[in-house]
Amino acid sequence: MSFIKLTNITKYFSDSSIPAVQSIDLSIEKGEILTLLGPSGCGKTTTLRMLAGFEHPSEGSIEIDGREVFNETNSLPPEKRGIGMVFQDYALFPHMTILKNVMFGLNKWTARERKARAHEVLQLVGLEDYATRYPAQLSGGQQQRVALARALAPKPHVVLMDEPFSNLDAGLREKMRYEVTAILRKANTTAIIVTHDQKDAFAVSDRVVVMKDGVIQQIAAPKEMYRCPKNCFVAQFVGKTNLLTGTMDDDLRHIHTHIGKVSLPQQWQERLETVKLSIRPEGCQLTDKGAYCGAVERVTYGGEYQELYIRLHNEPHLSEEPMLIYASIDQDVEVGAI
Ligand code: ADP
Ligand code: MG
Repeated sequence: MSFIKLTNITKYFSDSSIPAVQSIDLSIEKGEILTLLGPSGCGKTTTLRMLAGFEHPSEGSIEIDGREVFNETNSLPPEKRGIGMVFQDYALFPHMTILKNVMFGLNKWTARERKARAHEVLQLVGLEDYATRYPAQLSGGQQQRVALARALAPKPHVVLMDEPFSNLDAGLREKMRYEVTAILRKANTTAIIVTHDQKDAFAVSDRVVVMKDGVIQQIAAPKEMYRCPKNCFVAQFVGKTNLLTGTMDDDLRHIHTHIGKVSLPQQWQERLETVKLSIRPEGCQLTDKGAYCGAVERVTYGGEYQELYIRLHNEPHLSEEPMLIYASIDQDVEVGAI
């Protein structure tokens, strides 16, 4: 049985006839780190807030640890759902010490238990020595760890984090991706993280949920999502790709796919008028005996590799955009080369 289960969740805000979230079915296992990934406005925060109980779904039900916390007739208030929330801006109390901030959510515990638990989680996030400081005396990364410690302190069923890395600059962001995941794993917590950044999502999650316009597009582990995207949106959202247009035909037994003069060996169940093939830039190579022929339109140095943009010659209908290929920086390529 799943630890957290959203069944057929739809949310209409009162001022809109278009749902912010539509027919979402999602199951999360205990101890799993799951990310909701998608462009701004696709319904990630709304989904998180419905799970937390800050927002009511228009339809559907939500289960946490075997208990129905929301259905058509009942809604458990946020404080009874066993959820730890880390807000985007951390929402620490500036006038309280780090220790007091962490103790804040433990009001049902005895004074002694609260203190002991707060020290325990501060140790877990590596900030035991900062207990008497105030939030303003800490760096962004440290403040985030305090927010995480505060969320973990009451031993919640699940920790929810909304855009946890978006306030951090590039170097710290990478470090915090690692640290946050390590802390969640050590605490053995189930977590749902919202992000619009594919790199965040891939770096921290067991599984990624890609959303668009309130609808789930695909749920998969990062590697599978990258290698086998379900549609063009997912293919383009989780990394750079080339989308080539192809056609299908069938003999009596099989359906064949042709991408220009290249025929794909797979045999398909369904015959479509046109198909799109997603080929990642690192899956292409520049050779003099290739499947496609084109001219180098642009070369960009990316540091450890160079990006080549190739305009296909004989088969312009394959792609309106030039094809992107990653090549070694040792390879000499000139613009205009064919
Ligand atoms: P995301 O977190 O993916 O950027 P949101 O869940 O915040 O997206 O928003 C999804 C959609 O719901 C957007 O169209 C947004 O404008 C709308 N929305 C979010 N919150 C409210 C609200 N309180 N009232 C009305 N519309 C809202
Ligand atoms: Mg959001």
